[in-house]
Amino acid sequence: MIIDCHGHYTTAPQQLQAYRDAQVAHFDDPNKPQPELQGISDDEIRETIENNQLKAMQDRGADMTIFSPKASAMAHHIGDEAVSKTWTRINNDTIHRVTQLFPDQFIGVCQLPQSVGIPIGNSVDELTRCVNELGFVGCNLNPDPSGGRWTGPPLIDKVWYPFFEAMVELDVPAMIHVSSSCNPNFHATGAHYINADTTAFMQFLQGDLFGDFPDLRLIIPHGGGAVPYHWGRYRGLADMLGKPLLTEHIMKNVYFDTCVYHQPGIDLLFRVIDIDNILFASEMFGAVKGVDRETGHNFDDTKRYIDALQLSDAGQHKVFEANARRVFPRLDAQLKAKGR
Ligand SMILES: [Zn+2]
Repeated sequence: MIIDCHGHYTTAPQQLQAYRDAQVAHFDDPNKPQPELQGISDDEIRETIENNQLKAMQDRGADMTIFSPKASAMAHHIGDEAVSKTWTRINNDTIHRVTQLFPDQFIGVCQLPQSVGIPIGNSVDELTRCVNELGFVGCNLNPDPSGGRWTGPPLIDKVWYPFFEAMVELDVPAMIHVSSSCNPNFHATGAHYINADTTAFMQFLQGDLFGDFPDLRLIIPHGGGAVPYHWGRYRGLADMLGKPLLTEHIMKNVYFDTCVYHQPGIDLLFRVIDIDNILFASEMFGAVKGVDRETGHNFDDTKRYIDALQLSDAGQHKVFEANARRVFPRLDAQLKAKGR
């Protein structure tokens, strides 16, 4: 079985964005009408999935996608806590509808109602609701709700701990995933995303988060940002900072996905990072939607690059299925309950 651990509902019906536009307009000017979500039918959801993500999964050979709301639309820097809570809930409920309509192909991961300066502990209720009531198996945690300004404390700061405690208690992982950038220096998917991946890893290196949370599991997407390419730098920094080996200090708890959009990048990822720490993912349809003129294939058709590695059967099983089931035990339990 092939599990893609990183997909977003970027093709959601336009009523969702219309609601958001009205919500933001009302927040900016309370004289504008209260936002109202116009009805979205099951058929509309089916159509947006069948013609897009599901079709690509079938064409490319994936069986299941761990699915979450459109990441760039989380935009935690917009509005206030109430705005973020309502917007988050609507998005998570929409993902839940996808998982109900396509229970064998999609399983949910939630967005969180984060806001600048608001304690992350306030996001625990929504995580709990999504896991316990909607059957979700993880969450996307934004390390920078300020949208590229990095005004909050790093992930190793104790202000994050109430949320990590809840994750451990619920036995769910988080993907460290920023949203859109309101800082013109950082293009969202080209710079902000990759910066955040790299930044999170370095924060883990500087702290001792996994000494405090030995059971915490975090996924750094987009192939771990710049980390695999600069693995020597991080090994050296760990040494200089008097930290244990990265294999002990970080890599018992941190996983990288395969959202790397060219063969040499995937080759390097697998050469540098232990295969037990790599989860198959494509992030379709997300950052890079086009066709690679050099290969004639979609950039985000990442299975093709992994196939080209000619891994052993055991290696393929880890990357495509077993690692995801280990990192997302609630996914494993739901699959097992279905005899899969
Ligand atoms: Zn993503």
